[in-house]
Amino acid sequence: IDFGYERVARGEKQRRVGAVFDSVADNYDVMNDLMSMGIHRAWKRFTLELAAVREGEQVLDLAGGTGDLAAGFARRVGPSGRVLLSDINGAMLANGRERMLDRGVAGNIDYCLANAEKLPFADNSFDCVSIGFGLRNVTDKPAALAEMQRVTRPGGRAIVLEFSKPAVPGLDKLYDIYSFSVLPWLGKTVAKDEASYRYLAESIRMHPDQATLQSMMETAGLTRCGYHNLTGGIVAVHRGYAA
Ligand code: SAM
Repeated sequence: IDFGYERVARGEKQRRVGAVFDSVADNYDVMNDLMSMGIHRAWKRFTLELAAVREGEQVLDLAGGTGDLAAGFARRVGPSGRVLLSDINGAMLANGRERMLDRGVAGNIDYCLANAEKLPFADNSFDCVSIGFGLRNVTDKPAALAEMQRVTRPGGRAIVLEFSKPAVPGLDKLYDIYSFSVLPWLGKTVAKDEASYRYLAESIRMHPDQATLQSMMETAGLTRCGYHNLTGGIVAVHRGYAA
């Protein structure tokens, strides 16, 4: 199955992404640990450090899924702050809500079913807006980045954590083998869902590289944009400031 952007009409891509996340929702956390050998936790910790949220701040986590980033934000903003965990997919959001209760961080978190391309919030509503491993799944990325800039208060941070292009010689070849052989095999064997994990590999390959995403963020109106490569550029965290 090839879900490549060029070959799939817009509405069709959103429908297929929806089907993928309906299908993976129950196995999502286990598969994340397995596929990344637990390293996604370190990527998320780094992202939380870079976002540098303070007590009392208002944070929006887009495409938040099962809520790893939102939980970290909730601990950091404390009882006087607020975190909004949002996702387009009801099954992922429901799992996220359950996970928050398990983690004991539910007190300062709200939930919202929303498409990152068109957010139901007023301008300048948040101190920090994040999207972790979500932008790649969004059909209209420039629209999502523009929405992030719009709902972040001037001087607030917009954070994008996403798979990117390996920046270490030779790593790209190894990574391709991993993505197109090991990932679908893990999907088939553990999650009994090979197609969704093929989609994952395909969507990573199609995602803009570090420099392209930085310039897309600048085009969206974010300022002082920059990024950090993690694990040799397999993942990058981008940060920009709302104007
Ligand atoms: N942020 C979580 C994490 O880092 O573990 C979940 C990431 S998961 C790979 C991607 C999420 O993006 C899914 O929960 C999916 O429903 C969501 N998503 C896909 N398209 C979206 C859109 N247009 N707007 C909001 N969320 C979207």
